[in-house]
Amino acid sequence: MYDPKSSKAEEFICHEEIEDTLAYAEAHKHDRELIKSIIEKAKELKGLNHREATVLLVCEEEDLNAEVCSLAEQIKKDFYGNRIVMFAPLYLSNYCVNGCTYCPYHAKNKNICRKKLTQEEIRKEVIALQDMGHKRLAIEAGEDPVNNPIEYILESIQTIYSIQHKNGAIRRVNVNIAATTVENYRKLAEAGIGTYILFQETYHKESYEQLHPTGPKHNYAYHTEAHDRAMEGGIDDVGLGVLFGLEHYRYEFAGILMHAEHLEARFGVGPHTISVPRLRRADDIDPDDFDNGISDDIFAKICACIRVAVPYTGMIVSTRESKACRERVLHLGVSQISGGSKTSVGGYSEPEPEEENSAQFDVSDNRTLDEVVKWLMELGYIPSFCTACYREGRTGDRFMQLCKTKQIQNCCHPNALMTLKEYLEDYASPETKAIGEALIQKELANVKSDKVRDIVVERLDKIADGSRDFRF
Ligand code: SAM
Repeated sequence: MYDPKSSKAEEFICHEEIEDTLAYAEAHKHDRELIKSIIEKAKELKGLNHREATVLLVCEEEDLNAEVCSLAEQIKKDFYGNRIVMFAPLYLSNYCVNGCTYCPYHAKNKNICRKKLTQEEIRKEVIALQDMGHKRLAIEAGEDPVNNPIEYILESIQTIYSIQHKNGAIRRVNVNIAATTVENYRKLAEAGIGTYILFQETYHKESYEQLHPTGPKHNYAYHTEAHDRAMEGGIDDVGLGVLFGLEHYRYEFAGILMHAEHLEARFGVGPHTISVPRLRRADDIDPDDFDNGISDDIFAKICACIRVAVPYTGMIVSTRESKACRERVLHLGVSQISGGSKTSVGGYSEPEPEEENSAQFDVSDNRTLDEVVKWLMELGYIPSFCTACYREGRTGDRFMQLCKTKQIQNCCHPNALMTLKEYLEDYASPETKAIGEALIQKELANVKSDKVRDIVVERLDKIADGSRDFRF
């Protein structure tokens, strides 16, 4: 029985409800009146339910699909302005006891080089990331209670936050580790993490069990209910995602929106972010062995429909996607991207020798962070290294309230300008710096309040003189 408020995975992600939703959407894919009415509802900026959003996803009326895309772009501008938040993944360990059939970290892979960073190696990685200009990381690890126990993760977070190299600092550590207990989530919350991110991989239970044949991750309910446990453990911000390519994208789309509705119904706050990773080639993984790969067009449509369905949820695209594809989805509501990423364990401080491959997947966008920052600015976006919200206690429902009322922009925009200025002073190439300085001058005119603009101007001068870490 479908029940968004239930704490049981099979009730808040209900297979029959998803099947009904997909049949309903298919039956209405040419129903212009219904589709138009859903678009009108989306324009109210309060979001859509999974059924309405799936109708938009399946819609085969070209002009209406185009309308959804422009609405997605508009919503992104209304809620987030033109800033794009930057981050990088940091792989701590690829030891893993699970048997995920799509991931090269699976326990049976004897080919991949197993590595686990020591605290000293983490220091080197973090210094390399700080020297690129990063302020926000997502730490990643395989699931292995012996090699990667929660104590290791906690110690690593402490190490990361403690490193101050030149003007560098990692100010927000998001965590992408396997589903765990409420007690462990409480420890992560106490360690001061930003978002706890866990990808569902697939919402289809039967496929999930086949794709995760062995190891603790095999347990669908334990995995699907993990975000609930994280929130019970005091983590305010959680991130969802599915790995597109494993199951049919429409099923995943309805599933992820039901998950968002569940979090909203049970905790009064939806997901902080939704990630949209696509399956990539990796050590012993060939994406062609999986039947549900999606084209760039479908990928773009998914992004646009997520944006109109959950306007206040950040949307993350990683370097799994190419420059061209990232450019396309930036227009459709993506608000956060990674840059200069390495998916190997220890790949930032020293390039990995070919015979020692420890990477999780091949990246498509191999540009440096400086190149990505410059490219974003040339496209008219403000690359933002802001981490202010959670440091100012704007998390969970407090963040959502500000976001839903669009007030968050009053912080995001000036914070984006100030953190971009820090980046330009400390890390940018001369060319990027020149483009950035001009952009900041232009964007100052868009700060709505005269008072705030005066403060920003004053702080920008102070940053040029060596001060750091201002925030609203
Ligand atoms: N071990 C943790 C877990 O089980 O959730 C952390 C996840 S892993 C380091 C990060 C994510 O990478 C996975 O959740 C999965 O979606 C994604 N991933 C795994 N194999 C991939 C592949 N071949 N291509 C693209 N993404 C992949």
